[in-house]
Amino acid sequence: MAFESLTDRLQVAMSKLKKKGTVKEEDVKDMMREIRLALLEADVNLQVVRGFVKSVGERAVGVEILESLNPTQQIVKVVDEELTKVLGSEAVGLNKSPKIPTIVMMVGLQGAGKTTFTGKISNFLKQNEKARPLLIAADVYRPAAVDQLKVIGQQLDIPVFEMGTDVDPVEIVRQGLEQAKENKNDYVFIDTAGRLHIDETLMDELKRIKDFAQPNDILLTVDAMTGQDAVTVAQSFDEQLDVTGVVLTKLDGDTRGGAALSIRAITGKPIKFIGTGEKLTDIEVFHPDRMSSRILG
Ligand code: GDP
Repeated sequence: MAFESLTDRLQVAMSKLKKKGTVKEEDVKDMMREIRLALLEADVNLQVVRGFVKSVGERAVGVEILESLNPTQQIVKVVDEELTKVLGSEAVGLNKSPKIPTIVMMVGLQGAGKTTFTGKISNFLKQNEKARPLLIAADVYRPAAVDQLKVIGQQLDIPVFEMGTDVDPVEIVRQGLEQAKENKNDYVFIDTAGRLHIDETLMDELKRIKDFAQPNDILLTVDAMTGQDAVTVAQSFDEQLDVTGVVLTKLDGDTRGGAALSIRAITGKPIKFIGTGEKLTDIEVFHPDRMSSRILG
């Protein structure tokens, strides 16, 4: 899908403006229309678009058109600042435990990229902090999931704790955490089950794991390519589990990042990392200002 960039749209709207004077209310209306359309095209949630357009509109009226500065650039700057604010302003890292191990519970729907991300983040910490993570395979519904995590662990030379698929996941987590204590692992990542759809059984199991493990971080993995659906998924998981952060995967695809804006605005939970490819090194810390530039295009 080809997007017309928000910056291009603003350029057109602004070209009607005179070179001097101030931005008038009717000019702002035109610009707001362009911003609204561009954001909706980027699959941003309608409620979020409305709130955003309102706050930009309030700031845009009265912006002085300086002779030295291109008026479009001035408005783009306002939009950029507001987008960055909605996206969370600052990069947010993992919530760390004061004493080891820091426990991170990974949740998400099947196919979102949760298991891949578990590998990516543990490798990221190993490379950047010389961390010694342990991965716990707690998805007992898909035998392939346990194998997938084991393969990833082997590739990265990171240990994986598993007990097959016939044991209750809470018991797997209990024994996994014991092993982490014995081996003095500084991070533990619990890879939980994903389903194709959110259902009660899945949520109940995740709640049991959460209650037992008392994780420092509950990271929800969502697929950026699913746009508005990603927002619904994030909302449901957050309501049930009170997640502490979001991981947005598949941002290497042809997506403008509208999902990022909506998820952050609607759940209020920080996006902490992004996945930018299938390789285990394709992980980045989420930077609101960079995502804003991407949305602006
Ligand atoms: P899970 O079911 O949530 O554990 O999902 P997986 O980790 O098995 O990932 C599902 C598919 O998405 C796999 O084919 C991954 O290679 C792919 N994938 C995961 N993260 C990314 C990403 O950031 N970009 C791309 N392009 N593919 C990804």
